[in-house]
Amino acid sequence: MAAKYPNSPTVTQQSDMQRFFSLFSKFYPCEHCAEDLREELKIDPPKTDSREALSQWLCRLHNKVNIKVGKGIFDCSKVNERWRDGWADGSCD
Ligand SMILES: Cc1cc2nc3c(=O)[nH]c(=O)nc-3n(C[C@H](O)[C@H](O)[C@H](O)COP(=O)(O)OP(=O)(O)OC[C@H]3O[C@@H](n4cnc5c(N)ncnc54)[C@H](O)[C@@H]3O)c2cc1C
Repeated sequence: MAAKYPNSPTVTQQSDMQRFFSLFSKFYPCEHCAEDLREELKIDPPKTDSREALSQWLCRLHNKVNIKVGKGIFDCSKVNERWRDGWADGSCD
């Protein structure tokens, strides 16, 4: 979603995306994950003013979860390769 978000979103698109994360944090069925997300959204609200800003914000958020669940940190400079353009070396994930 972040990878295909508009480069220059309208005010409505920005508020819709903010509402999406707020609603997601209420209905995500893993209750302790959702509660944690609600806290994270208060500390670091979604950056919705551009595709790049949203992609980097979401990558940071995803990395916070990765740390909590013992997964490796993802290199946020590669979000477009992972989620939009495909890996530069032609491999799949
Ligand atoms: C808000 C939230 C909170 C969660 N909290 C918990 C929890 O407390 N405990 C728990 O067990 N699970 C939690 N989960 C679930 C957990 O994050 C994974 O989704 C789950 O472990 C499934 O793993 P997965 O490999 O399918 O997906 P993911 O681990 O999400 O990986 C999918 C793909 O995303 C890519 N990726 C990885 N990191 C990033 C990044 N930073 N940015 C962009 N792309 C990336 C990689 O290519 C990877 O292959 C939470 C999920 C959410 C949405």
